[in-house]
Amino acid sequence: MADEFKNDPIKETAEAQASAKRSLSDILQDEANVKLRNRIFGGIIILLVVIFFGVMVYGVNNLLANEGQHPVESAVDDSISASPQDAEAVLTYLEAKVIEAGAATPAIGIETKYELRGEDDAVTVSGDNANVLTETAKLLLPKALEEVNGKTGNVSADYGENITGSLWRLDSLSPADIAAVTNNFTYYQCTACKETFDEAFTECPKCAAKNTCNKLYRDNYDFNGTLNDTPDVQAFYKPLTASDVAALLTGLNGFEVLDTKVTYANPAFSAASGRTNGRLYNIVFSRNVDLTLQLKGQDAYAAFGEFTLSLKLIKINRFNFTWPTVNLSAEMVVGAKESVLLSASINAPEGTIVHWRSLTPEIVTVDDVGYIQTGDTYGDGTVQAYYELNGEEISADCVIHVRVPVEGVALNRRREKLSVGETAQLKATLEPDNATIAGCQWFTDDPSIATVDGIIIEHEKVLGIFGGKTENIGTITAVSPGTVRIYCLTEDGAWRSSCTVTVE
Ligand SMILES: [Zn+2]
Repeated sequence: MADEFKNDPIKETAEAQASAKRSLSDILQDEANVKLRNRIFGGIIILLVVIFFGVMVYGVNNLLANEGQHPVESAVDDSISASPQDAEAVLTYLEAKVIEAGAATPAIGIETKYELRGEDDAVTVSGDNANVLTETAKLLLPKALEEVNGKTGNVSADYGENITGSLWRLDSLSPADIAAVTNNFTYYQCTACKETFDEAFTECPKCAAKNTCNKLYRDNYDFNGTLNDTPDVQAFYKPLTASDVAALLTGLNGFEVLDTKVTYANPAFSAASGRTNGRLYNIVFSRNVDLTLQLKGQDAYAAFGEFTLSLKLIKINRFNFTWPTVNLSAEMVVGAKESVLLSASINAPEGTIVHWRSLTPEIVTVDDVGYIQTGDTYGDGTVQAYYELNGEEISADCVIHVRVPVEGVALNRRREKLSVGETAQLKATLEPDNATIAGCQWFTDDPSIATVDGIIIEHEKVLGIFGGKTENIGTITAVSPGTVRIYCLTEDGAWRSSCTVTVE
């Protein structure tokens, strides 16, 4: 609206007339206003400064008070990230993803297979020669299953090939058909040792740091569901056909099949998709198949007589989607005037050639095969690897940080006196303060006199008001009387500064 008025000639004219009519008293009045305004403005500045430092002090206090006290929530909020969780949302989501995948350009692999369920009790035989027959069946079954699995008609489609009709749609299922479903996409990382875990913790299972986990989000959704034994579900999972059963018996030649009984149980599904890119990676349907065969030995096997063979199988229908992608390191730190070969891997039709280009040629250039060359300009540039598929460009970016090198380091104290058991903090200041790799390592000459523990605080990530400054703090602990030197060593350039610590 404001912009509309600005461009309105009628309004402009009216303003011009109004200002032309301003009298001397108006102007004097204006001067008084200006003084008042300046005073108010000055007041606001002071207020802002007070608030700024207040926030800073509050922020630092808050940080210190909270550090090591609570799991720190990351910026992503479960409630605003529309993550399918309940049966209805999951069904709707997966059905949409199956349709999208069918209409898009991934390579698709469809596999149907039977596996024996469990180890020892997957094959049981009852009858006079149960032991011998069980061992025989166990020997023959893997071969039989291999043959069955060879006949299930695996399908694969290349990028862009349409095989929508071969995909299993979920629209015949309703939320009531789902017994339970989970969608895992969060994990927890120890802020101390960086190890990751599926569950939140108050004490790190690895390094035993207390109450220091960050909640983080995976790139993928990982769905696992079980289904109810409803007519919908029975219709969805097509039953074994007579030829399936006949094929299952291929390895059992020499036996007459007197009776066949097939039962199904535990229909289930799992799926994985990209949380942020919305792509379906796989969807797997499974159910337990219990096959009971009444058999009678013939000819050479006549001596076995009649017996019952029970097989515990699982039937798996797996749909794999491989999306066209270029995979490239997301970022890389490179020195000025340096040349490095980037390499990209691709999911693409055979014979696809990757091309390269720089989006910031003033900072970094790249040749046809991915050799980058930086100049003497520090900063961030972007190099892109790409190829074309069906008129669409598939690409990935690598951010090239042309490193601002460390040119020195200084400790805030060169001498320190401590009593046994006492601790003190040293702070290392790097030159320049925008150095790209701003970490330090800490060392002691003699840990029997004093030890040192270093931490790197990246303020940008914690408070957002320090503009990315990194602080290197070394905590010295006095162990026994003596004199020792404590060093900090910069990770970039190996610059060194030391403090002489006397323990009394
Ligand atoms: Zn840990």
